[in-house]
Amino acid sequence: MRVPALVLSVLLLVGACDSAPQAGMTVGGAGPGVITPADPGFIIGTDFGRDDRLAAAVLLDLRGFWSERFHTVFGKAWPGLPNAYSVNSDAPARQATPCAGYSDALAGNAFYCAEADAIAWDRAALLPALREKFGEAAIVLVLAHEYGHAVQEHAGLRPDSVLVSEVMADCFAGTLLGEALAGRTAHLRLRPAQLDHALAALTVFRDPVGSGRAPEHGSAFDRITAVLTGVDRGPAACAGMTSAGLVTEDLADRENRPTLSVERMIDAAAADSADFLRTVAPAGWRPPAVRKAGGRPCGDAAVIYCAGNDTVTVDTGEELSTRHRVIGDFATAVAVGRAEATATHAGDDLCLTGAWLGRRLAGPGPTLRLGPGDLDEAVIQVLRSAGAQGVRTLATGVTRGATACRTQ
Ligand SMILES: [Zn+2]
Repeated sequence: MRVPALVLSVLLLVGACDSAPQAGMTVGGAGPGVITPADPGFIIGTDFGRDDRLAAAVLLDLRGFWSERFHTVFGKAWPGLPNAYSVNSDAPARQATPCAGYSDALAGNAFYCAEADAIAWDRAALLPALREKFGEAAIVLVLAHEYGHAVQEHAGLRPDSVLVSEVMADCFAGTLLGEALAGRTAHLRLRPAQLDHALAALTVFRDPVGSGRAPEHGSAFDRITAVLTGVDRGPAACAGMTSAGLVTEDLADRENRPTLSVERMIDAAAADSADFLRTVAPAGWRPPAVRKAGGRPCGDAAVIYCAGNDTVTVDTGEELSTRHRVIGDFATAVAVGRAEATATHAGDDLCLTGAWLGRRLAGPGPTLRLGPGDLDEAVIQVLRSAGAQGVRTLATGVTRGATACRTQ
């Protein structure tokens, strides 16, 4: 993770920019018992405080996991724990760290330095912010990501771009999270809801897509699906990752579309999604009418398909307008598309929504085209409403199309 300004502005200020997780975006609370702390005596520069005790526990579980699995996947022995450096960016006399010296490069940050085989983190501005905003599991995710770079280095992996290197490190991080979810780690115990919270951290750390900068850490979609690949399929699947299948670079080439108002996006998304769904729905299917109203006549969601009168009902009140403003207009689009997909009975609704977005990655539809960041807005909305499992289903549709949705 090398996004110091972003981390600080996003985590510590509220509402500073478009991609910042404003008040409504915070998925907070450490949640009980993710990490059993450990003695941080092996960490260079440690203050023996709470966050370094958590970091120590994560590193020990990483060592245990990779000592066992590295040989199986790469055919050679794991060389052992990288050097670990804890730095207090607030201290007037800061210690030197490998690759960064005495500079501010580590402030609010964590990184892996290959030439010294060292992982370093800022215990003042990074770890507490992650813990408070996204839970202890986010500390696991960030340190396991850096450890993932050490795995790449020692395995001799040469990813075909910086972006693939980053997404692969996310995937390697996911492998440890998968072990923790399965209860196979000594210090970590993770529940699915805590994984969802940690993944939300990646929606903050993601690169601002379409900003004109070379993509470094990838889009939220690429990053979250990479972590889930690691969780679900283990390290061998990560080691084989390439730029094929990543959407970040495709989207980064596009221009931003103008942001649509809630009202206009409801209409545009309904028309565009219907155009796609006609190609996958049973013959003779007609899209449901869309009714914008204040109430929720057939369920708790702000946007929902009401089977009784074959209508997509949209409650255009506060909830919808808040997330439209905070996440972006594609949070609205994905909710409308999903409700409409439900009406087709042609497969899993969320998967079909992903298939629609996947089609729009390839080219514009009649009323919408996918701009940089739109897919991320969709993935953030799905993560918040349906968790990691929802993102898996959405991604199946995006990457494999509507035929994969029938079996979902
Ligand atoms: Zn990285």
